[in-house]
Amino acid sequence: MAQTSRQDEHVGELLSGYIDDELTQQVRQRVERHCEQCTECSTQLERFQSLKVEIGDASLSRRANDIWRENMESNGIGTTRNIGWILLIGGIVLATSIAFVLFLISQSVSGVEKLIAAAIYGGLLLLLVSVWRQRVIESKTDRYKDVDI
Ligand SMILES: [Zn+2]
Repeated sequence: MAQTSRQDEHVGELLSGYIDDELTQQVRQRVERHCEQCTECSTQLERFQSLKVEIGDASLSRRANDIWRENMESNGIGTTRNIGWILLIGGIVLATSIAFVLFLISQSVSGVEKLIAAAIYGGLLLLLVSVWRQRVIESKTDRYKDVDI
């Protein structure tokens, strides 16, 4: 059984490379020999082949598949995160705006205190805007990074 020990390893991760003709002759032969004996891997190979026919010229390499999957996932995360930021910042701005207006119209607050509150609120708004800008810039560079991989 020593000569079949290599062939007993499943070749699932090599199949897309096999279909895209990216493997060395030696590895190709290993895949072919393995698929002759292994229904699991030969079924998977057939599935890959029919998938390749379906998507035409698009590369089915493992790398392309992984990038596609990563993009799908990171786009989902990015969207969720962006919504989170919009809700968070929108909520904070709204809450502090209401609090600030209530504070300004309050009879029991002196002019100096209102001025101080205005300064704090103005500073807070500027900080939020700068954080927001940074987020936008980061999300743009993230997107480019994904594309470049
Ligand atoms: Zn197998």
